[in-house]
Amino acid sequence: MTGSVVVLNADLQILHKVSLEHSIRMIVRGVAEVHEAANEFIGTFIKPISVRLLKYVVTTWRYKRQPKWSKSGVLRRDSYKCAFCNGKATTIDHIIPRSQGGKNSWKNTIAACLPCNNRKADRTPSQAHMPLLFAAKVPDWTDLYKKDNFV
Ligand SMILES: [Zn+2]
Repeated sequence: MTGSVVVLNADLQILHKVSLEHSIRMIVRGVAEVHEAANEFIGTFIKPISVRLLKYVVTTWRYKRQPKWSKSGVLRRDSYKCAFCNGKATTIDHIIPRSQGGKNSWKNTIAACLPCNNRKADRTPSQAHMPLLFAAKVPDWTDLYKKDNFV
């Protein structure tokens, strides 16, 4: 068996090509169904030209879409390091405090240890004379899922 078969996502977006053997295994495993077929049979199977995944696979959004803000995401992004003293961070600090209109966003939150967080309180870093050791940035997925974040 030779040839290649186009794999379509559940929304019919073209993903990639696989071998004919692979596409038939996908059908047998119930992951895909025949979308277009040639007027030919391979054993008992109709020869697919393209197959469509039955479940939508998220292959690209992970890399294109911005990760959703979360407290644990901020800690992971900053590798659990306090932005003020480089100690172990267990909390997140709002750079512009919420009391001054600061939002829960990647650029306005940073990892902090509890003592620094309490010391900074409802002030900006410049008001508190506590400069940030690193900047808050919008992370990409690799920042959030670095291996060393799971140790
Ligand atoms: Zn600290």
